[in-house]
Amino acid sequence: MARTSSSLTARLGVHLLGVQFFWDGMKARFDNENLQESGAVHKQILELVREPMRRQKRSHIAYWDAMTFLELGSLPTPLAKTQEAELAAQLVLTIGADKLRDRTVQELIDLPVMDHVHASLAYDSGEDGRPGNIVVSRTNPARVVYGADGRLRTLGPGFYRSLEIDLAALGVDPQGIDWYRLVVLAVLIQIRADLELEAETGFRRVRKCQRRACGAWFMAKRMAGRQRFCCAVCRASNPRESLPPRRRARQ
Ligand SMILES: [Zn+2]
Repeated sequence: MARTSSSLTARLGVHLLGVQFFWDGMKARFDNENLQESGAVHKQILELVREPMRRQKRSHIAYWDAMTFLELGSLPTPLAKTQEAELAAQLVLTIGADKLRDRTVQELIDLPVMDHVHASLAYDSGEDGRPGNIVVSRTNPARVVYGADGRLRTLGPGFYRSLEIDLAALGVDPQGIDWYRLVVLAVLIQIRADLELEAETGFRRVRKCQRRACGAWFMAKRMAGRQRFCCAVCRASNPRESLPPRRRARQ
C-alpha cells in the first residue's frame, strides 16, 4: 500500500538490529533517553559476541548476534514466557541444530505480530551517516553498521532491504518501550525473511558455527553451500579440537 509523503515525513521510528520499528500517529516523542536504553541492550549483546566478532574481523553487530544472545544470554522473566520469546528461542535452537520442524515454521507464520511486518526495497544515499528507512543489504552486509547506541548507519549509496514493523498496531506505548521485546521481534522478523529466501533458493544464509568452542551465529558467504564455520580461525582450530583428548595432547 502506498504511503503519502506527509505520512512519511511525520513517521517516527527506530532501527534495531536491522528492523525499523515505527509508530504512526505521531503522539510519541523519541528522545536521547530512549536511545540510551536501546544502547544498553546493544551493549549486552556486544559483550556476548565480542570474541566471535574479533575472530570474524568485524566491528558491527548484526541480527544474528541477537540469536547468539538468545542462546547465551537471558531475557527478563515476564518477556521470556511470552509466546514470541519462546518461539524465538525454539527457532534459534532448532535452526542451530539443523532440526527445524514444519510446525515451528507454521507457528511463526501464524504469530499475530507477523501481520504487521512489511518488507520493501529502498535506495539510501548513505550521506551524512544518516540512517534512512533502510536496513539490511543482502549484497553487502559490510555496508551496514551500527553505532554504539545501536542505531544503524549505511556506509554507501545503494539499494537496501527494509524490514519494518508498526508498533502502534501492536499496542506498544512508545514511552515505555521494552527493548528486549524489540530484539525478540527483530529476530523473528529476520528469521522469517531468511526462511523466505531458503524456500526459494534452498540456501540458508544464517548459520551457527560448528566449532564447539565458538557456536556463534554468522551469515554464510553468498550461496556458500556448506560453510560450517564462522571464520578462518574456527575452521582451522576445529579439526584439532575435535580429536579425543589423548590424541590432542600428543599433537
Ligand atoms: Zn566460529
